[in-house]
Amino acid sequence: MTTKTQPADIEAQVIDDLVVANRILAKKGVLDGWGHVSARCPNNPKHFFMARSLAPALVTAADIMEFDEDSEPVDQRGRRMYAERYIHGEILRARPDVMAVVHSHSSKVLPFSVTDAPLRALIHMAAFLGDEPAPVFDTRVAPGGDFTMLVLNSQSGAALAKELGNRSVVLMRGHGMSVAAASVRLVVFMAIYTQINAEVLLSALHLGTPNFMDSAEIARSDRPDRGWEAWAAEVRENE
Ligand SMILES: [Zn+2]
Repeated sequence: MTTKTQPADIEAQVIDDLVVANRILAKKGVLDGWGHVSARCPNNPKHFFMARSLAPALVTAADIMEFDEDSEPVDQRGRRMYAERYIHGEILRARPDVMAVVHSHSSKVLPFSVTDAPLRALIHMAAFLGDEPAPVFDTRVAPGGDFTMLVLNSQSGAALAKELGNRSVVLMRGHGMSVAAASVRLVVFMAIYTQINAEVLLSALHLGTPNFMDSAEIARSDRPDRGWEAWAAEVRENE
């Protein structure tokens, strides 16, 4: 007997993935007390789900809120919200192909946001970074910036989405990065491997000149779909 998947089931699955994503990214050090991950609502693609303002390691399904296309809450009920939620709303608005976004302050990635050292694909698991340097968003020159170095309104979020363009990762000067992908599971994978690529690249730069992946190698790489089950099992163990 086949059971038809109902919209409510699909939504519950996305929310469950989002909760697990928060836990995994906290465990991997991509998110610490700050940073966040969002998912486009499967039943209302202009809206997105994201936790209330809370450390990612502590997020449960009850903490997930729904936001509209302007990053405003559908039903706030007095809950505090992440000030930088416009990052998610504006990337999701600009990129219909994107279903999930991570915003991180990873210290492994930060050096590449404040120097001219390019963040490019060096290891095959991070082929999605491509052979062009990751773009760097600078609030000093972008519209909507207010010298807080944060993305606190739709205008600033839209400028960030523009800098991201059709790439997967945009660095944010002296602040962190945002990662965009076609699913929650994929954005978790990409955020983790962007951090690992940055870490390996930083070590490589100490030893000599990095031998980056070339465009032919990048074109032949697939995005591995493994990792999630093992990472999810690790964070579910303690529940
Ligand atoms: Zn931030």
